[in-house]
Order: sequence, then C-alpha cells, then structure tokens
Amino acid sequence: MGTERKRNVSLFDDATATGTNNRANGGTSVHGGGVPSYNRWNGRPYTSTYYEILEKRKMLPVWQQKEEFLKMLRENQTLILVGETGCGKSTQIPQFVLEAVELESGDKRKKFMVACTLPRRIAAMSVCRRVANEMDVTIGEEVGYSILFEDCSSEKTVLKYLTDDMLLREATTDPSLERCKVIILDEAHERTLATDVLCGHLKEVLKKRPDLKLVVMSANLEAEKFQSYFVGAPLMKVQGRLHPVEIFYTQEPERDYLEAAIRTVVQIHMCEPPGDILVFLTGEEEIEDVCCKIAKEVRNMGDQVGPVKVVPLYPTLSPAMQQKIYEPAPPPVTEDGPTGRKIVVSTNIAETSLTIDGIVYVIDPGFAKQKFYNPRVRVESLLVSPISKESAQQRSGRAGRTQPGKCFRLYTERSFNNDLQPQTYPEILRSNLANTVLTLKKLGVDDLVHFDFVDPPAPEALMRALEVLNYLGALDDVGKLTKLGGTMSEFPLDPQIAKMLVVSPSFNCSNEILSIAAMLSAPNCFIRPRETLKAADEAKARFGHIDGDHLTLLNVYHAYKQNNEDQSWCNENFVNQRALRFADNMRQQLARIMARSNLRLCSTDFNSRDYYVNIRKAMCAGYFMKVAHLERTGHYLTVKNNQVVHLHPSSCLDNKPEWVIYNEFVLTSRNFIRTVTDVRGEW
Ligand code: ADP
Ligand code: MG
Repeated sequence: MGTERKRNVSLFDDATATGTNNRANGGTSVHGGGVPSYNRWNGRPYTSTYYEILEKRKMLPVWQQKEEFLKMLRENQTLILVGETGCGKSTQIPQFVLEAVELESGDKRKKFMVACTLPRRIAAMSVCRRVANEMDVTIGEEVGYSILFEDCSSEKTVLKYLTDDMLLREATTDPSLERCKVIILDEAHERTLATDVLCGHLKEVLKKRPDLKLVVMSANLEAEKFQSYFVGAPLMKVQGRLHPVEIFYTQEPERDYLEAAIRTVVQIHMCEPPGDILVFLTGEEEIEDVCCKIAKEVRNMGDQVGPVKVVPLYPTLSPAMQQKIYEPAPPPVTEDGPTGRKIVVSTNIAETSLTIDGIVYVIDPGFAKQKFYNPRVRVESLLVSPISKESAQQRSGRAGRTQPGKCFRLYTERSFNNDLQPQTYPEILRSNLANTVLTLKKLGVDDLVHFDFVDPPAPEALMRALEVLNYLGALDDVGKLTKLGGTMSEFPLDPQIAKMLVVSPSFNCSNEILSIAAMLSAPNCFIRPRETLKAADEAKARFGHIDGDHLTLLNVYHAYKQNNEDQSWCNENFVNQRALRFADNMRQQLARIMARSNLRLCSTDFNSRDYYVNIRKAMCAGYFMKVAHLERTGHYLTVKNNQVVHLHPSSCLDNKPEWVIYNEFVLTSRNFIRTVTDVRGEW
C-alpha cells in the first residue's frame, strides 16, 4: 500500500482539507475492491470461515453506509450514530474505524487504540469474541476486552472493548486517554451512570485533544438528546430493515407474570408456525426456574410437539453458556416430525445489547429490575418494576429482525398507554452518587455544580454524596480529595466498604476485612431450594456467628477455602459455588489493589479475644453511617434518619443487640435491614 493512498484516507488531518478529495478508493482498504488473502494482523492466510463470515457481515445494514460513515468520521470530531438493534453497530463500526485509523497511522510502532465501551460485561465479552472471530485473530491480542478484574488485552491490542466504568477508571489515571485515537460509546441510550459521566468528561477532553474522535452510538430517539449535548455533532441514521411485528395484549391484567409467560411459550410452541421465542424476565433465579418449567411442560406434551432448546441468558452466566444463544434450534426428532424451536429466556440484556437471530416471537411481561435511590433516607434499592414504553418497543422489535413477528405483551393495552413511563429514567437520576462524586473528584472536577452533565442530578443527591464522602474523610471541608479519598477511589466498591478496607490494617485485621468485602460484593451465597428449606436453613445455621451476618459470611468463606473449594462440599452445605468463586476472585483483585496502595495484609491472632472485636471495630469505621439502635419499644431506629427498621428474617442475630451496623436497607412490606452485625456504642 503506497504512501499516497494513505494520505488520501487520512482521518485526522485538518478535516476540511481532506474531507473532499478522493476517499472512495481508500475507505475500503481491505474488504473493498480486491478480496484479501492474507490477514494483515498476523500475516497468515485467512481461513475459509473468515470469508464465510465476511459474506454475512456484508449483508448487515451498516455496510451499505460504510463510505458515508467514514466520510462523516473524517469531517467531524464527534458524531452520533443511530440504528436498529442488530444492524451491525457494535461489531462492524469499530472495525471500520480501526481500518481507517490503522491506515492513517503509517508508523506501525506508534501505539494507537480504538476503544469501544458497552455498559454490560457480558456484551463487552461477547461482542469482542465475535469481532476477534470476524477478524480471524486471537482474542486478547489485536482485539481485546477489559471488564472489572478481567483484562483480556495486551500491548498489541488496537481494538479494545470495555465496560463504560472501566474506561472511566482508566480516565482517572490518564485523564486525557492519550492512547485512544477514537472512542466509541456504544449503547449510549442506556444512560448508565458511567456513560453519562464519560460524556461529560470526554466533552472536555475533546477540546484539549483535537486529534481525538468520539462516536456516540445509540439505538433510539435518545440520539437527539446527545446531538444537542454535543453541539454541532451530526447524526447519522443507519437504515434498518425491520419487518412488521404484530402486538398482542392481554384482556385482563395478569396476576402472575411468570406463570403467564410459561403458558404463552407453550401456546406458541403448540399453535404457531416455526420461529424462535424470546422471553424477557428480571433475574437469574426467576430465569433458571422458568427454563426448568418450560422444559418440563414441553416434555409432558410428548411427541405431538417439536423438540425445544431452552437457553437462559443473564449477566453472570459463563461465556460457554452465553454462546448457546447463538446455536440453532434443534432439528425435528423424525424426518417429517414437527420442527424444533429455540427458546431464550433472558434479562434486559437481550433488549439491545445482544442480538439473537431467528427470533420471531417475543414475550414481554413488562418488568425489569431497576435501581432506585431515595436521597432523603439514603436508600438505594433494586426493585422489579414496570419498564418504559420505549423498552417495550425495543423488546417487540426483537421479533421482526429476520421475518414478520409477533410480540405478546402480558399486560393490557390500557396499561401500556396509561401506566408506562415514556422513557427509562437515566441512572444518574436514581442512584446514590457517593461513588460517582469520588470518581469525578479523582478526574479533577472541583466544581460539581457546573460540571456539564447530560442530565444534571438533583442538587440534593450531590449534596448527600459530598456529605457522606466528607464524613468518611475522603473529601476535606472544602470538598477537595484527601489522601485517604484518593486511596479509597482505587477500590471499585461503595465508599463505605472502601473506607473499611483502607483502615483495616490499623485494626490488625485486613485479611478478614478483605474477605468480608469480597463476600459482600458477590451474589448471595446461600441457596434455599423450596423442596429442602429445612436442611438448607440448618446448613446455614452451622455457619452462623453469634455476633452477626458479616462474620457469618467470613465463616462461610473460611470453610469454603478449608474444604479446598470443593463442589460437593458446596452442594452439601447449600452454598452457591459460583458466588464463592466470584468472591474469591474479587478478594484476590482487591488484595492486589491493597498491595499497590501500600496497605498491609495482617490478622489478629485467632485465639485472641480481640480477633472478632478488631474486625467489628474496623467495620464500624466504614459503616458508622449505617447504625441502628434498639429502642425501648423493641424495634430499631436508624441513627442517621430515625427510621423504624426491623432485622431481616435472614439475619442470624436472634438476641437483638443494642447497637448494630447494617449493609443494606431493604424496602418491602416493612423496612428491613439486612446483613447486620452487633457493635458497641463506644466504638
Ligand atoms: P447492533 O450493535 O447494531 O445491535 P451487532 O453488531 O451486535 O448489532 O450485531 C450484528 C449482527 O451480527 C447480528 O445481527 C448477528 O447476526 C451477528 N452476530 C453478532 N454477534 C454474533 C455472534 N456471537 N455469533 C453469531 N452472530 C453474531
Ligand atoms: Mg449493539
């Protein structure tokens, strides 16, 4: 490839100077004119799968507008791209960009990188795996990903997929993100906290770095919002090919959406023509349960119906299991028997993050788990709540990707029109901002009030966050980051837990506090199968610690390690091995951060009377804003807000100590505090 050609496709020269000349021959360097035969990354001949996939890729709608996109990228520093889910945004656009950047950066030794953020870990991994396949390279080399505690990239990496919070973390150590040439914010319409903060931060960086480019990708109308936020950024629309989707509502509200979802799956399978089914549910437990029930129902129907492959999909699933969603439906049992179907039961993840081909039927019960925050009582909770109209439309759109489809909404049309919010509220407006404010301070933002948020959070939420960080000693009285605050911000944890970790060496118990922090970050480790409740509760009681639930968690962790992380030990004791593995990995990563921050790992002698006392003292240092006191009336009052609360039934504390610290405030029928430990007033 001659130098002259390189000059023609230069992306980053003065935009107006290069914008007009003959780009057409340059833009498609490899896949364009001639068919390439050697992989430009590893120099080996391309495999035949490469060409097969390439043919499929070329059918994707974004390929029709590749030239148009590259021209826009050349002529603008920031641009907004919208297109239907499945049109090829996440997998193709970063490759187009990479191709252009690579061509222009003539010197191979010069390090450059295209970074593409996605809000979800599972999407970052899955898209990255697909792209490595498409480019016929080994994952982790030229194409890599980075998610919390898992960095699958190397010096060689030129295209990196990362979760938005990881890019934000990178920005705290390298504010202008020097290595990145182009940053792509994918799924920006999700309006996650990290993407919103990145938008604000990048807006500043772009002013300082004229060589940096930003592409904001979004699936829907939210695009206009970004367009007015990034003043002057043009909008490019990818013309999708969506087939019509017929929408059905229930006549009456459904009492039990799980039961209704199963019933609908079975009905579709019995009565409707071939085509796969996608069911939206809210969480892992529910999904596993429904998968079992569907498989069972279908088995009971015998051979009058075709075989099914029921596939769960949720964030903590292993990569091998995730990959199953791309497998085809099972073939008919006999040659002329009824056709098989794939049934995917998924969380919100399949709404826009991952595209599953072949879906013709969508079942939408209308719920998702969402985070809420009440700054007045400082309670953040994850609640199953109704989705927005926009989400409902996204969900139904999943049915019309390859042919006309049907969407069954398990709620009434009236309810759709009158009850659903038009759009999902941005996360920044419904979160505890303590962690975000700490990150912003680390990024060097002194004046939060004038930070250019896409949607500014309520001043009260910011004030609360500043106040908490000040109490914890992370910010001084004028709001400047302290040394302690700087260390705390290294940990991807709630600031209160980070504080407890940072002070733990001075209480001579950092080993134990590390384990507790890791266990608190992991999913619930206790399993309670309905059939064997009693045995499960007895098993849990064996781990119980008289002083509280945090120490119970520590017992579980220790027992797990002493039993060599054994699967059958986990089963016998009703603990979730996956949760413990997660905790164990988390612990190692946190230990690494401790070492980097020069925090000593130490323990008090186990036989000393102070062993547990020290641990509880260290916890108090982080949790002193989450203390409740037992009143004479027999119930607890939170010290900070005077809320009446009750010990959660899952707690192992049965003797009602006078003072307790708690990890979580849970709002259900009553106000509960969960994961509770006995402390002393004087601490
Ligand atoms: P978008 O980001 O616009 O929603 P993607 O780039 O994620 O779309 O996906 C484009 C297409 O690539 C999908 O419609 C699907 O056909 C295909 N695809 C994506 N990931 C995989 C995968 N892991 N295996 C097979 N096909 C995939
Ligand atoms: Mg995508």
